[in-house]
Amino acid sequence: MERRGLMVLAGALFFVLILGGMAMAKETAKIGVIVVDVQGDFTKFKNGSLAVEGTDEAYIKAVQENTKKLKGAGFPIYATQDWHPANHASFFTSHKEKKAFDLIKLHGRDQVLWPPHCVQKTPGADILIDKKLFKAVVKKGKDPQYDSYSGFQDDGGKKTEMDKILKKDKIKKLVIYGIATDYCVRATALDAVTAGYKVILIQNLCRGVAPDTSQKAIEEMKAKGIVVLETIDLEKIKGS
Ligand SMILES: [Zn+2]
Repeated sequence: MERRGLMVLAGALFFVLILGGMAMAKETAKIGVIVVDVQGDFTKFKNGSLAVEGTDEAYIKAVQENTKKLKGAGFPIYATQDWHPANHASFFTSHKEKKAFDLIKLHGRDQVLWPPHCVQKTPGADILIDKKLFKAVVKKGKDPQYDSYSGFQDDGGKKTEMDKILKKDKIKKLVIYGIATDYCVRATALDAVTAGYKVILIQNLCRGVAPDTSQKAIEEMKAKGIVVLETIDLEKIKGS
């Protein structure tokens, strides 16, 4: 009888381990990836109007290959796409006697005036990564009055469909990388934290407009609990 009792116990233990394993597998399925603004106008590769340092062909290839790898690991991939009307308020050309990179107040916020970029339906707005990799592409910056560095909401507080899509897909943790570290990557990652997601930033797949603001952005993200990994590491992504 005692032996039989032990066998029942062993059986129960086995069952618990199987259930635990299933729960862990389920946990893995809740990780999503956001590739931020890897678009022609932000890259040297395409001679973009707002080309960020270090965005050559090798960078695009690295983003492409690593995104493929993450999709292969079973993570749904999402993208953000800067998608401005030609008269967008963030363009210096929309303001009298202003030049590129001037700083103005717009709706009470500091606004950098950028060269026109990512104008809807122009080649500069194209995403340079294979679109077949993406489960969804979230467009941002469509309102001519407000900029939208974040993939979650614009500066007027209007939400994109990002959070809705991620919630529908039961995503709990996000791997984020892209362009630019100090603007759209930063804003998207910080808003993801505010929306309740765990966030992992992949530093070598990010490129920034300026080294000092990029470094500041990394520190700010770390302070908000974002895990910064140098490269894609599937074990660390699943474990952190
Ligand atoms: Zn923009």
